[in-house]
Amino acid sequence: MSTPVKVAVTGAAGQIGYSLLFRIASGSLFGPDTPVELRLLEITPALKALEGVVMELDDCAFPTLAGVQIGDDPAKVFDGVNFALLVGARPRGPGMERGDLLEANGGIFAPQGKALNDVAADDIRVVVTGNPANTNALIAQSNAPDIPASRFSALTRLDHNRAISQLAAKTGAPVTDIKKMTIWGNHSATQYPDLFHAEVGGQIAADLINDQDWLENTYIPTVAKRGAAIIDARGASSAASAASATVDHARTWAQGTPDDDWVSMAVKSDGSYGVAEGLISSFPVTVKDGEWEIVQGLEINEFSRGKIDASVAELAEERDAVKGLGLI
Ligand code: NDP
Repeated sequence: MSTPVKVAVTGAAGQIGYSLLFRIASGSLFGPDTPVELRLLEITPALKALEGVVMELDDCAFPTLAGVQIGDDPAKVFDGVNFALLVGARPRGPGMERGDLLEANGGIFAPQGKALNDVAADDIRVVVTGNPANTNALIAQSNAPDIPASRFSALTRLDHNRAISQLAAKTGAPVTDIKKMTIWGNHSATQYPDLFHAEVGGQIAADLINDQDWLENTYIPTVAKRGAAIIDARGASSAASAASATVDHARTWAQGTPDDDWVSMAVKSDGSYGVAEGLISSFPVTVKDGEWEIVQGLEINEFSRGKIDASVAELAEERDAVKGLGLI
């Protein structure tokens, strides 16, 4: 077996962590031949619960789990890590304004960005799952000046997976027939799942379905509001699918995309498709040798343009708010 990959997970005692850690430890991320060492960060009051989770990890006797360290100090937990999956975040409390939420998360993601900058491995790759994920990623990235900005990303893979599964249900095609799905913009209710480039068995999905009313009034809201629908049905949030998407995102980053497909990742914009430079926005990306590239040359029709612009405007507002708070 090779040298263990060191994977940090924050918010490790939370709901998503409870699915995510077992997937990583069992080899879902790097395969059966690559050992992983888990570095788990929690806030001090959650460390006892985290010890319980570590006992369960021990009890699984995973062949690929080379070690587990836990702690509440990012400067220690992130030491030498190759991947950091930033899941822990401050949820919106009752009566909390967006500015308060961004400020509370700035208090988490700014120090974590600094700690990664100081102690992570040279090949560090960061995935932010904790919401508001895009702007939390921007805060972490802005506080890590020595790490290339391209190493920071935020999760829109759950939205991407939901968009594939809803399209599969509508067309009767297996999910494996669906390629080139894109989520544009923010991981929020303004996200835009794009059926004008997605393909079903090689045919453009929007042409195949040919129903703009369904696209606008059923498909897009169903994908964007899926999280709320799950809370409604289950009485708890969509933690297992969020964990699974986090694994998918990191695995694609490590292993690459197939030649005939792409994935959605929120990454730092270089101005492609009119998305303001510097925002962490979701794009269609291909990945090769651990580096992502935004797919170029897609034609954006008027409908898509309006949807992408609306989501990007929201990201620009969030960026301005955190700039105003001195977090970036
Ligand atoms: P979860 O594990 O359910 O969620 C964690 C974060 O992921 C939240 O910000 C949540 O956003 C977000 N998220 C993204 N996509 C989804 C999705 N599809 N479904 C659900 N959540 C999604 O939260 P818990 O409260 O169970 O656990 C959070 C843990 O983080 C706690 O143990 C807490 O102690 C810890 N924490 C750790 C920190 C640290 O390590 N320094 C800092 C802050 C918290 P949303 O709120 O919008 O649902």
